[in-house]
Amino acid sequence: MQPFFTEQQEMLRQTARDFARRELAPKAAEVDEREEFPRAQFKGMAALGFTGMALDEEFGGSGGGYRDQMVVIEEVAAACGSSSTVLITHVSLGGSAISRHGSPEQKRRWVPDIADGKKIAAFALTEPGTGSDALGLETTARPDGENYILNGTKLFCTNGAAADIFVVFVTHGRGLGHKGISAIVVERGTPGFTVNPQHGKMGMKGCATAELVFQDSRVPRANRLGGEGQGYRIALNILDSSRISIAAQCVGLARGALDAALDYSRKRKAFGGPIAGHQAVQFMLADMAMDVDAARLMTWRAASLYDAHMPHTAEAAMAKVFASEAAHRVAHKALQVHGGVGYFRPSAVERIYRDQRVTEIYEGTSEIQRLVIARSLIGKLEG
Ligand SMILES: Cc1cc2nc3c(=O)[nH]c(=O)nc-3n(C[C@H](O)[C@H](O)[C@H](O)COP(=O)(O)OP(=O)(O)OC[C@H]3O[C@@H](n4cnc5c(N)ncnc54)[C@H](O)[C@@H]3O)c2cc1C
Repeated sequence: MQPFFTEQQEMLRQTARDFARRELAPKAAEVDEREEFPRAQFKGMAALGFTGMALDEEFGGSGGGYRDQMVVIEEVAAACGSSSTVLITHVSLGGSAISRHGSPEQKRRWVPDIADGKKIAAFALTEPGTGSDALGLETTARPDGENYILNGTKLFCTNGAAADIFVVFVTHGRGLGHKGISAIVVERGTPGFTVNPQHGKMGMKGCATAELVFQDSRVPRANRLGGEGQGYRIALNILDSSRISIAAQCVGLARGALDAALDYSRKRKAFGGPIAGHQAVQFMLADMAMDVDAARLMTWRAASLYDAHMPHTAEAAMAKVFASEAAHRVAHKALQVHGGVGYFRPSAVERIYRDQRVTEIYEGTSEIQRLVIARSLIGKLEG
């Protein structure tokens, strides 16, 4: 029990932990091996209300704040990295974009099915020519009567291969900069819209990554979230808070690695006793525990600020970059504690070592997070 979580949140943690240990952990190696969207796991998370977390309660979401979400995501990630990426993308990216920025009519149309997991959501910002620099996106939306005609390609879209509802960022003209970007909801099956699964990832293999291709794809203007040209603001708003979810994911990945290392170090014997008796191993375990705790505290602070409707941009970036790099260190040490066996599949630490790496890249690389933090420290420079 942590004093900074409520009794209700601890109960939520217990529910999530029981589910994750029973339903997710035993199949995590298989999800990794098969490189397919984990449908049964997604259904299980939906049955517990996790797919509706932080989504508008009026439209079927389970409400709750980011501290609730961080509790659940930590437990899911500790058991199965891919399932946590699938959940975060569904709830914190695609689902939240519609829940927070959709009109009542748009929410009525899409949020209930997203919240109860009947439909899977995705978020498509990155393109072949641009990732960190979102202003460089080239997928166009040309007005045509009551519709937009979409042309372009999106890359690395998590959940893409399985998703039903895509929040797609487009430009109405490159020269317009951020004022030309809109967020448009595109449904699977829209003519001219093709989904091509992308394989060959190093880790997080179950998160159903896809390339999205739009060729004269006709989408109703009524599918645009917010006003025309408000898409960049929407993207920043969503990424700002979703980074808290990624930080929570990193806490979970790191804790999963620490748990595995602790367990192994008690059982594995060398030089007359368990390796946990050797001080060099103890120091690794101690360093790992400190990293997990510090990452959890920073994530909790960012989540608390979000829940209190207070500014949280720098704190969310700090939590994301620290937690992802902490998870990197912890995964490295956990594998070291396992010796040779940790280097082979299907050891959990081998999988976590690979799964962790992308947390330093997606939803803003560590370098971009540091830019965000530095900007908040320095403020506007004169001249
Ligand atoms: C498994 C996976 C899942 C993903 N899921 C999604 C998704 O669901 N939706 C989506 O839209 N995107 C998704 N992405 C894309 C991801 O968000 C981008 O890869 C990420 O934002 C980085 O963009 P990039 O790959 O184009 O790298 P680039 O932007 O080309 O960056 C390359 C390098 O240059 C550095 N760099 C760039 N600009 C600066 C700067 N100004 N200062 C210092 N360094 C800089 C970067 O930090 C990085 O090290 C996913 C990616 C992966 C790998």
